[in-house]
Amino acid sequence: MESLKQRISKYLIDYRRDKEEAIKDLEKKSSNFKEFKEELIKNDIVSEEELLIIFSREYKIPYLDLEKYHLPKENKELLPQDLASRYKVVPISRIGDVLTIATSNPLDIVVIDELYLATSFKRICPVLCKEEKINKFLNNLYVIKEEKEQNLKEDIFSKVSVKEQSFDESIGIETLVKESKLPPIVRIVDLIIYEGIKRRASDIHIEPTSSDVSVRYRIDGVLQHGLSLPKVNQDAVIARLKIMSSLNITEFRIPQDGRFKVKFEGKTIDFRVSSLPTNFGEKIVLRILDSSNLSYGIDKLGFSEKPLKLFEKALGSPFGIILVTGPTGSGKSTTLYSIISKFNNPQKNIITIEDPVEYQLDGVTQIQVKPEIGLTFAHCLRSVLRQSPDIIMVGEIRDAETADIAIKASLTGEFIFSTLHTNSSVGAITRLIDMGIDPFLVASSIIATTAQRLVRKLCLKCRVKDEIEDNVLERLGFKPTTPELFRPRGCPACNYTGYYGRFALLEVLLFDDIIREMIIKRASEEDIVNYARKERGFISLKEDGFDKCCQGITSLEEVLRVAG
Ligand SMILES: [Zn+2]
Repeated sequence: MESLKQRISKYLIDYRRDKEEAIKDLEKKSSNFKEFKEELIKNDIVSEEELLIIFSREYKIPYLDLEKYHLPKENKELLPQDLASRYKVVPISRIGDVLTIATSNPLDIVVIDELYLATSFKRICPVLCKEEKINKFLNNLYVIKEEKEQNLKEDIFSKVSVKEQSFDESIGIETLVKESKLPPIVRIVDLIIYEGIKRRASDIHIEPTSSDVSVRYRIDGVLQHGLSLPKVNQDAVIARLKIMSSLNITEFRIPQDGRFKVKFEGKTIDFRVSSLPTNFGEKIVLRILDSSNLSYGIDKLGFSEKPLKLFEKALGSPFGIILVTGPTGSGKSTTLYSIISKFNNPQKNIITIEDPVEYQLDGVTQIQVKPEIGLTFAHCLRSVLRQSPDIIMVGEIRDAETADIAIKASLTGEFIFSTLHTNSSVGAITRLIDMGIDPFLVASSIIATTAQRLVRKLCLKCRVKDEIEDNVLERLGFKPTTPELFRPRGCPACNYTGYYGRFALLEVLLFDDIIREMIIKRASEEDIVNYARKERGFISLKEDGFDKCCQGITSLEEVLRVAG
């Protein structure tokens, strides 16, 4: 195939017969098209403008003289700055789903493709324009905005007259309290919180470093950068947060826990706050707990239909134990709280024993364990049983003593649910037996065990087809007729992560008499799972994940990451 260099060379010779020799010479000399183009302009064979006009004819791309074009400021909203500068393109106009961009390099087809994938536009139309003019427009459109923001930031921060040495503990607490109430500090803290809610963060990390205070947000399980605050504002910002959360502001040396609530768009959002002393000052972590998510019930958590049906069947039992398993951050508490919400009504006495209490629920008695004064899970559970509960939620079964009390209570008619640290639903059985619980008691008290994992959803604006070889798919357990699979790519909508939002994979092992017999006879985990798969509609986390891949909701790599 003819290279671009050769094609343009041919075209130019037609256009400038008199320069045939020189053109051929330069073509030979330059190793690629870019060099060739530069040489042509340098040697006065064609001007950049002439070259663009040639391109325009050859590739049927309009040439636009941007000298005469007024570029509206709002155009910067059409394309994020980093994309525009990376590809040296200027957003010119938008009509419906079509974005017109100006470029000086119409031959870089990759650019158009990349922009198409990275934005939500259905079509990207290029027009040609001189490079110099493109640079000018890029500067006007984007750079000035950055400067303005910088000025605004300096403006906010300069109003705070916190002395450099305020980092020293010797600063008066009174001064600190006064400073923490200054409008700029209040605005900074409000902004940090607002950003967190807007960006769907699950927690906000405010972390002093040697040179500044960095703010990061955990979004879909991954930490992402936010603001950096000047070191001088550190103490006032932290003091403000501590006052809001009713923490002891004079105490810097030990970790503290607190909470506060904010109203946002008509919803009340809870923040659980913890402080931790570090080398550079106190680090504050805010967990955002949006309790409005819980009232929708477990059928709104996005579980697949099959395991959800099994789960609901288990919840219909009058007594017994349901164990939810999974690692930290797998969404276990959301599931437990959703179940409590489902049962929560004035006719029911619901008691929870937690470490820590995450969401505060009206009408529910919630107890915080305090092992340092002897209030352990086991101790609390024993006391709770004397309060005639209908439903008990034990935050976590960590030891044999708690497991033992829970099991015995469930055998006398209590309905208990709790969590356990294991990898799979069937693993919960083994774990309890390993703790020293008699298999007979495990078999007779438990209704169901579940396992869950949080998986990121693919960003629908930028996901791309995933090409995976059939033999790999088969090895992973896919059927040969697998529909299209997708993988993440990244675009402004998803902050270039390729993912947007999360949902939980679920695996439910619903006990029946045969499973109970197998447990008493110490059957292997594999045998129990094989039976459950055949007779009890069991599907594993991985199988649930593969289903979601086939529906294009998540990627294979994501499922293998959490359930591989
Ligand atoms: Zn995206």
